[in-house]
Amino acid sequence: MRSADVRERNAKIVLKLIRKAHPKGLSQAEAVQATGLRAPTMFRIFSSLEAEGFINALPACSEQQEETKKGRPRICYGVRPDVLYCLGAEFWLDRVSIGIFDFQGELLSSSQEPLTAAIDAQAVVEALWKQTEGLISASRIDRSRILGMGVGAPGQVNVRSGSVAFYSRIAGMRGFPLAKALEEKLGLPVQLHNNCSIIALAESRYGELPGAEALFMFLLRSGVNGSFVSEGRAHLASDGNTIETGHVVVQPDGEDCVCGAKGCLEAQLSHCDQSNLGRGHWLFNGPAAKDTDERGRVYAAAAPYLAAATRTMARLYSPKAFLFVAATRELAEGLSAAVQQDLQAHPSGFDSHATAFYARAYNDALALRGAADLVMDTYFN
Ligand SMILES: [Zn+2]
Repeated sequence: MRSADVRERNAKIVLKLIRKAHPKGLSQAEAVQATGLRAPTMFRIFSSLEAEGFINALPACSEQQEETKKGRPRICYGVRPDVLYCLGAEFWLDRVSIGIFDFQGELLSSSQEPLTAAIDAQAVVEALWKQTEGLISASRIDRSRILGMGVGAPGQVNVRSGSVAFYSRIAGMRGFPLAKALEEKLGLPVQLHNNCSIIALAESRYGELPGAEALFMFLLRSGVNGSFVSEGRAHLASDGNTIETGHVVVQPDGEDCVCGAKGCLEAQLSHCDQSNLGRGHWLFNGPAAKDTDERGRVYAAAAPYLAAATRTMARLYSPKAFLFVAATRELAEGLSAAVQQDLQAHPSGFDSHATAFYARAYNDALALRGAADLVMDTYFN
């Protein structure tokens, strides 16, 4: 590696550390301790990052004048919010959501637009493009400072090629090169993942859930999917595709599934909620959300299938935590409790009793942050 490359790599490592320390900030001494780099090297890196506008001294920290051993004031540095920006987007059958984040990870502005019925893959590109352009011009930020856009797409995504491998609910979403199509329109780099993974990534990083460093999350929307996050990354299959939890078979010879198979998790859960599942409706958020008896019936019907998938994912990935995300927290909690009851009623010698269970309502801003982080992760790695 050339010395200029080493310098650039070290500067990125330090910048990442300072960013991670937001809002508290990071001193040069702390950065030396965390990286093992020598103090003069660290001084040079901090000086050049400050000169290039990436970081500045935090007034609150220098005012405290906390003394170091050598009697010098300890000055903390933080990243400047306006030096770089990232876009995060998520879409599914129902709508497109897009947000702009500053370099400190704060959501500056966002927009939600419904997707019209019978939309196809090309029309989704147009919708994402127009909405993004509208958001960028309304925010009045310097376009040259936007690092790129992270997108969470529904269904199965090939992360390596940046394409939607298969999403049955939008025509043309099979092997569709969404990242490339958007890059050509926007003139910005685009990172694609599936929406389940961007939510799981964000919950793992910012959700404050103990054990979420190895998290398996189920997303129950109009479709069903799951994602496993460990070591800060969403797990991929050997071909670069996202894992397809919604189409794990939980009932041999069960209900017909949109994928062509029978008895997939998504098909079985949808069958439990037929009276509700119209276009864009959230699973179990129709009659079951309002009526206690109906809710109990739906949970009881759904629990064995969701528990079967949970058991399978526990055997495959050994997550430290499971998270159920649904339309409302109450729904997610009800399903999580029903699954735990089923697991306790049918124990396995391989069960880990240390596994935590969590339930959350879908959070749009958090999903967008997970999408924007795809870009930030690429920048730092
Ligand atoms: Zn299926």
